[in-house]
Amino acid sequence: MLYNSFMHERAQNITPEKPIRRITRGVKVGNLTIGGDAPIVVQSMTATRTQDVAATVDQINALEAAGAGIVRIAVDSPKDAQALAQIRARTSSNLSVDLQENWRLAPLVAPYVDKIRYNPGHLYHHESNKSVRDKVAFIADAAHRNNCAIRIGVNCGSVDPELANRFGDDTISPMVLSAMEHCQILDDIGFESYVVSLKDSDPQKVVEANTRFAKLRPDVPLHLGVTEAGLPFLGITKTRMALIPLLAMGIGETLRVSLTVPNNKKTREISVGNQIIRDVFEGTLTQDVFEKPQGLNLVSCPSCSRVENAEFVELAEKVAETSMFAKEYKISIAVMGCRVNGPGETYRADLGLWCGPTHVRLMRKDKLLGTFTYEEIIPRYQEALNQLIAKQKI
Ligand code: SF4
Repeated sequence: MLYNSFMHERAQNITPEKPIRRITRGVKVGNLTIGGDAPIVVQSMTATRTQDVAATVDQINALEAAGAGIVRIAVDSPKDAQALAQIRARTSSNLSVDLQENWRLAPLVAPYVDKIRYNPGHLYHHESNKSVRDKVAFIADAAHRNNCAIRIGVNCGSVDPELANRFGDDTISPMVLSAMEHCQILDDIGFESYVVSLKDSDPQKVVEANTRFAKLRPDVPLHLGVTEAGLPFLGITKTRMALIPLLAMGIGETLRVSLTVPNNKKTREISVGNQIIRDVFEGTLTQDVFEKPQGLNLVSCPSCSRVENAEFVELAEKVAETSMFAKEYKISIAVMGCRVNGPGETYRADLGLWCGPTHVRLMRKDKLLGTFTYEEIIPRYQEALNQLIAKQKI
């Protein structure tokens, strides 16, 4: 089905008189509930260094004051976990922790948070002799002992490799199947306090993945989001294109808007999230929901404590400016802030910039074009972009 008619069909129910909410199971996260008949929870994530306790607490407080129901923090080491204990002592916000491949830290972080996010595609890096089922049981045990919820956070850039290979070009089925498998593992263990997310940087895929999952498991609350949506203008448009049709179908119990913004503008994620909810339930929609942007697609991660160089956001802005002349071309560009999610997303793009502490890797799909300093990278990027465009003209 054509994208526009797909979205129009999905949007039929968006009227002020007819806001639709499905009823899933309710999952307690600190002093609020995700799902059940609770209001939709808007959340965000800190982008400060987790070990900079003062800065992280300030950002948590700013996000909460702006309306964040839950704030997520990345933890990658025992030292981060120690910082988390200090952060917990200084804020009463509902906290979630993002573990990515560091699932072994679950018992260290669970006492200080209300929710643990793990990524099924990142359970393969450590202790490959241990089964995924055992690793999930390990996380669930820590969560259960500390009254934490869990989010099964499936991400397009890091899908379970075995499933990704099985489905080839179909990137949605492995995401849905991975989420289903992990729900089953938690169900078998008897752990019920979980939510699921299925995120992609393509809004259409977010709609399709979440719609499919919601049909298969209508009882499980969904955390909605477009991953690496990018800088505000395009990032907000893409997020609206995915979240508005889903919310209009009644799907989505919590959401996060991921924007590439500097730390002092992080609260924008909350105001945009609340605006999306208002637009659906008050019927104040604009045409952008129905129009898939054509031509150049720039994705960039929203940054988090894992960002390896604070210049990342500025670099993403420079890449956007440099690329303006090419906006009519069907080219995808990814600018990513770290080694955790950087490779997956940059490999999928026509051109990728994967930002390290002092250097940026310039990739054309999975081919390394070169490694450059932050001062050198823009002209090199422009050269690579010109070459791509020249090929498209032929
Ligand atoms: S790519 Fe890295 S820095 Fe960017 S949001 Fe993801 S984990 Fe954080």
